[in-house]
This record gives sequence, structure tokens and C-alpha cells, in this order.
Amino acid sequence: MKTPEIVIIGGGFSGLLIAYWLQKEGLRNIQILEARNRLGGRIYTLRSDHEPPIEMGATWLGKKHRNLLQLLDELDIDIYQQYMGDKAYYEPMSVSPPQLVELPPNDEPSYRIEGGTDRIIQKLANSLHQGQIHSGQTVKTIRKTGTKLEIKTESDFFKADYIISTLPPKLLVDSIDFSPSLPEKFTDIASQTHTWMADSIKIAMTFDKPFWRNPESSGTIFSNVGPVNEMYDHSDNTHFALKGFMNNAYHAVARDQRKQLVMEQLRRFYGDKVDSYQSYRELVWQKESFSYSKYEQHIIPHQNNGHIRFQEPLFDNRLLIAGSETATEFPGYMDGVVESARRTIRQLKKILS
Ligand SMILES: Cc1cc2nc3c(=O)[nH]c(=O)nc-3n(C[C@H](O)[C@H](O)[C@H](O)COP(=O)(O)OP(=O)(O)OC[C@H]3O[C@@H](n4cnc5c(N)ncnc54)[C@H](O)[C@@H]3O)c2cc1C
Repeated sequence: MKTPEIVIIGGGFSGLLIAYWLQKEGLRNIQILEARNRLGGRIYTLRSDHEPPIEMGATWLGKKHRNLLQLLDELDIDIYQQYMGDKAYYEPMSVSPPQLVELPPNDEPSYRIEGGTDRIIQKLANSLHQGQIHSGQTVKTIRKTGTKLEIKTESDFFKADYIISTLPPKLLVDSIDFSPSLPEKFTDIASQTHTWMADSIKIAMTFDKPFWRNPESSGTIFSNVGPVNEMYDHSDNTHFALKGFMNNAYHAVARDQRKQLVMEQLRRFYGDKVDSYQSYRELVWQKESFSYSKYEQHIIPHQNNGHIRFQEPLFDNRLLIAGSETATEFPGYMDGVVESARRTIRQLKKILS
């Protein structure tokens, strides 16, 4: 039997994992189309000399994320516990100064990927041939003609027997034109499906010394005042950084102004020591058009994640819907990626048998 041509849309964690596992199953005719000029999607680790890996996307996992832990074991990737210290700065309201509070013992600590989250992406990508991954290919239209699927990107044309989408469902229906149209019941749900963290703002600052690590201070911050609502020690063994989340509302503010507001807030905790920073990094995910698409109405976190509509193949079993937001357990998270990839592979194998 002729090996089916499979095109995976999206070179994030889901797309690469599905390709890696399908190849292990002996399916070799796989192409990945990725819009960005980098792989990883919402996994994005910044690397430079004299700095720890800076996670602008996915960072933490827990021991409850069993699917992900199994995969990390398979890929031989280690994890380590997030350093929290035993104290945190807490800013309850703007009219009172920040307090240094004791952190209670943590029964469910968070863990990080040794060497940076993008090691998962690198390992998966290295298992594929260079020629299978097409970066800078934004899929614009998908047309079904008989049993074939035609895919047009901005600059090229591809054919497939089967397509696996790994785009967040909202982005899929907002950015790709289908012919014939996708069922309305699917489109309605997808357009009201939350894309986890795609509306967040991450900021990070690197330093030559971890001045916050002493009994009178902490790198952990919780603030109701903002603009930074949460911040954590983001150092590795040799390089030092703080990284946190800024209130999403600041997406409309200019970068310089955001930075100035962050500095003003951090001076409330650390005084002018914070001015000795080596670099300031930020990522406004709402501006990432290959992750975020504006909602028409109010959507709550994880809304419609794991919906039954995403579990059913479309286009006469030729189009499968994968990606973290389609998982039924821990959707939106890296763990959800692994669950949804397993389900998609089971589905495809059933269709092919
Ligand atoms: C700021 C932030 C923090 C996070 N923190 C955590 C965390 O601590 N722990 C955790 O478990 N999870 C976290 N997540 C979620 C985690 O990153 C996701 O669950 C996971 O990366 C999703 O992978 P995916 O491949 O399913 O989707 P994506 O990573 O969104 O991949 C989709 C891919 O499709 C590509 N694409 C988009 N449009 C097109 C197109 N038209 N044509 C071709 N390609 C296209 C995109 O560029 C992208 O590479 C975080 C996410 C963000 C943004």
C-alpha cells in the first residue's frame, strides 16, 4: 500500500511530537508546515551568553502531569524544582508598602526543564529530517478535492492525503480558509475556545548577582498592585534572572513605558539594585499573530478546551484536530499536548487500518 502523505500544520510541541511518534510507527511521509521562522510555538526559550535560558513561554510542570513526565523520560530530559525561597514579597494594595511574608511549605512544588523548555523542541526536531520541516510557511487555505487535500501557504502549494492541525482551535478557524467550509457546529465552538496564555505578557531581567537571595529579601513576588503580578527567581546554577507576568491590560502601552513601570515597581522591593540589570526582555503574546487571535466576546480561561467537537475528524476523516487545547486532561498545558498527540495518533491509525 502507498504510504499516505501526511501534512502537519504547526511546528510547535504538538506538531513535532505527533511527527516524532508517527515516524516511530513507521509512517515516514510526513511534512510539517510552520508559519514562524522558529519552531516551538508557545515554547520559546531565549538563549544568550552569560544569561540563564529565559522562558518567554511554557516554563513549569508538576508531578500531576504524568503524560508529560512519561514523555520527558522517553526523551531523557531531566527536571528540577523551581527555587522559591522561604519568603515572598506581597503587595496587597497601592496604599500600603510591600510586605515580606513567610511562604507556607509547598505540597505541590513546580518543576522546570533542565537546560530550558526548548530542549523538548530540539530533541523532537532532531529526530526528523531537515527537509520535512518547512518554516516560514503560513497556511492560508485548505481545499478538499475528492480524496486529496490541497494546501496553499503564502508562497507554496502542498498536497496531502491527511492533514493534522495543531493550531489553537480559535486561530485555526480565524486564519485558515476551508473549502468546502468546516461544519458550523465546529466553527462556532472553535471560535469560542480559549487559547491558554496567548493573552499574557512575560517580562524578564538578568543580573550578574542574585541580590534578592538573602534573609531580608526574596525573588518571589505576588502583587495586587502591578504592573507585575507575579515574579520568580529564574536563575540557573551560574547566571541570574527574575521573570514574571505583567497584567495583560498593559499590552496597549508602549514598550518603554511598560519597562519604566516595571522598574518603578521593582525599586519598591529592591531599591536601586534593580538598576544594575544586564538585560530587560518582554513578550506581549497578544501581538503574536501565530498564537493569538482576538475574541469577539468574553471568553473565560480554558473555555471549550477539550470539547467533543475537537475529538471528531473532519472532511471525511481526512482532517484531524490536535493541539493542547483539544486535550481532555490539562488542556492548554504541555501535559495536554502529550495527551492530544496520543489521541490523534490512535485516531489516524484507526482510520488507516
Ligand atoms: C506565556 C506562556 C506561558 C506558558 N506557561 C506554561 C507553563 O508554565 N506550563 C505549561 O504546561 N504550559 C504553559 N504554556 C502553554 C504551553 O506553551 C502550550 O500548552 C504548548 O506549547 C502548546 O503547544 P501546541 O503545539 O499545541 O500549540 P502552539 O505552541 O500554539 O503551536 C502551534 C504552532 O502553529 C504555528 N502556526 C500558527 N498559525 C499557523 C499557520 N497559519 N500556518 C502554519 N503554522 C501556523 C505556530 O507558529 C505554532 O508554532 C504557556 C504558554 C504561554 C504562551
